[in-house]
Amino acid sequence: KLNFHPTGRHFLQIPGPSPVPDRILRAISLPTIDHRGPEFGALGLKVLQGMKDIFKTKHPVVIYPASGTGAWEAALTNTLSPGDHILMFETGQFASLWNKLATRLGLKTEILSWQGTDEHLPNAPGWRRGVQADLIHARLLQDKNHEIKAVCVVHNETSTGVTSNIAAVRKAMDDAKHPALLMVDTISGLASADFQHDAWGIDVSISGSQKGLMLPPGISFNAVSPRAIEASKTAKLPRAFWAWDEIIEMNKDGYWPYTSSTNLLYGLSEAQDMLAEEGMDKVFARHQRWAAGVRAAVTAWALPIQCADPTVYSPILTGVITPVGVDADAIRKLIQQRFDLSLGTGLGKLKGRMFRIGHLGDSNDLTLLATLAGVEMGLKLAGVKLAGSGVNAGMDYFAKNV
Ligand code: PLP
Repeated sequence: KLNFHPTGRHFLQIPGPSPVPDRILRAISLPTIDHRGPEFGALGLKVLQGMKDIFKTKHPVVIYPASGTGAWEAALTNTLSPGDHILMFETGQFASLWNKLATRLGLKTEILSWQGTDEHLPNAPGWRRGVQADLIHARLLQDKNHEIKAVCVVHNETSTGVTSNIAAVRKAMDDAKHPALLMVDTISGLASADFQHDAWGIDVSISGSQKGLMLPPGISFNAVSPRAIEASKTAKLPRAFWAWDEIIEMNKDGYWPYTSSTNLLYGLSEAQDMLAEEGMDKVFARHQRWAAGVRAAVTAWALPIQCADPTVYSPILTGVITPVGVDADAIRKLIQQRFDLSLGTGLGKLKGRMFRIGHLGDSNDLTLLATLAGVEMGLKLAGVKLAGSGVNAGMDYFAKNV
């Protein structure tokens, strides 16, 4: 609960759901139309083509009226059979949750993780780094009989603020001459960080509406390769709502087998227009620049950044580790109550040890500087010793880097 009567805008600085631009909110507010009528087919065809452009694929994209978790399940149930062996990589909480979901579906899951030590987070050293493609390569080489049917990795690990090099994973699979399918969760990466479904040789990409696409939560995606569609013809895991075949067939005319989320599709169409008007490369550069400004602030405070490998810093969010003995959630609560600013919590093994600053969605330099000011005031009020002013460092960064 806030300890003042709220005025002005709430600062939703969690790494998704992201702040929704007014343009998208207005589009969503239009009257709902007949989902079997002629106008709807045109909308359906437009948003489906728009998603192909965003995923950078020529092949079908399936849109579900579900959160990202549904699209995770859809990717697995459409392509795999009970007891199939799949290889995953533990980069953080979302990789772990996908692993749990796969286990519940009756798949045989194996999860690799980075083997090293970490002074700041001894219990979660791998949660500060991206996927290690060399470990995947070594494991696939051992799998002479090709028991492993899929390799599943997370592109932008939202629990940590670490990205993974998907092209390197593809190369590791090719070098090992292994036929497993490659499945990539880009729920929080798509439309904020570069993503290339076809060029990176991905079989199923999974995404959601509430992050880089700047929509409210509620729709999610599978981009599917011809190999994935081939696999779906013999895959035996039960599926009905998630089954690609009927959806892809009806999508040819812009319709769905069931009632679609019409108003979210209005929003999706608007989001696609906004991204196309700006140009995707500029969108990616904008997030990189925001991330660098926020990291300049964290560095000035002299607090450790959750991502320990500068080559894979996330453009979407920055994780900040709090000093030992300082409960990150208590600081988040204080900041929320005093300044009406929401920050992401430390998930799973990171609970209480870090917080996350989202820099995605409807934001700009000044909203991010206000966010940094809220964080800096909160840290000081909580008695955390800071080496310098992160707000000043952020202002310098944004002023100097146009
Ligand atoms: N994967 C990643 C990387 C995520 O960030 C999230 C949600 O934040 C999910 C999966 C789960 O998606 P949802 O909460 O939309 O079901």
